[in-house]
Amino acid sequence: MAGGTRVSSAAPAAGSAEVIDGRAVAAAVRERVRRKVTALRAERGIEPGLATVLVGDDPGSEIYVRRKREACAEAGIRSFHHPLPAPTPAIELAALLDALNDDRAVHGILLQLPLPAGLDAAAMTRRIDPAKDVDGLHPLNAGLLAQGAVDAVVPCTPAGVMELLGAAGAELAGAPAVVIGRSTLVGRPLASLLLGADATVTHCHSRTRDLAAVCRDAEVVVAAAGVPRLVTADMVSPGATVIDVGTNRTDAGLTGDVDFDGVRRVARAITPVPGGVGPMTIAMLLDNTVRLARRASNGE
Ligand code: NAP
Repeated sequence: MAGGTRVSSAAPAAGSAEVIDGRAVAAAVRERVRRKVTALRAERGIEPGLATVLVGDDPGSEIYVRRKREACAEAGIRSFHHPLPAPTPAIELAALLDALNDDRAVHGILLQLPLPAGLDAAAMTRRIDPAKDVDGLHPLNAGLLAQGAVDAVVPCTPAGVMELLGAAGAELAGAPAVVIGRSTLVGRPLASLLLGADATVTHCHSRTRDLAAVCRDAEVVVAAAGVPRLVTADMVSPGATVIDVGTNRTDAGLTGDVDFDGVRRVARAITPVPGGVGPMTIAMLLDNTVRLARRASNGE
């Protein structure tokens, strides 16, 4: 965890939560990764390598992958980019993933999702060697995480949320914590991580009867529903820590799942959108890559 320091430096006014600075926490993680890369190279002669696979020409996905590769370069991680046209037959994508599984210079394989129509994302994710599953989406890693195993590869966004909670100094052991959303990418792994940190977890979704009442009982609320301003001030108990994973493009611009202006008057600490969870995802991808490289060199 990044330590309990990276909330905005000014003391919050009464009735105004501390804003958890995701950019600062992410920068600290990236610096930590840089140091690990230097040590791996010096002590074991290993250069961590990440393969990125992008099928098709979706502009958003192209930007995401480019940012990830730039972050790798900055951290001293080699990246090997494999753009494929759409349509690409499943057999060709599978053959590429098999080759990357066998490539000793590649420690992590990132298959950018979503895949174009006609390709089965779940099947392709399962094709990736779990030891190189840098996004932590292979069912083996998801299962290990659900079992509380320490050697699971943890998906990047939930791992980033845990770093932010650490940076905010949130007390998790025994604390009532609510996760809103149950996707395999965010909500489910996050609930497992919070449980692993001894929080008392309540997991909510679109069928939850009284979301407001459940949230009001929580000391930690993590919103990952993809619904703009789902969490409002009347749903948050005074002193709660609120993490907003939501990234919603609306006419008013980028919006989270939390009504930031209202909730910050009640909460103890809160993440903004943008500048909260978003910057953490790439930072944790770098962290996972280095972790997998170190494990490979240990013969694990
Ligand atoms: P998802 O797969 O669409 O899952 C959304 C979850 O929210 C589902 O479990 C759904 O319940 C639940 N939900 C929807 N409406 C709800 C409501 N009114 N009340 C309670 N629960 C509700 O989305 P995701 O991939 O987990 O992503 C969630 C959000 O996080 C999105 O805005 C996404 O853009 C953002 N995100 C951000 C990052 C980042 O790096 N910052 C990374 C990943 C995702 P059901 O299961 O019942 O349908």
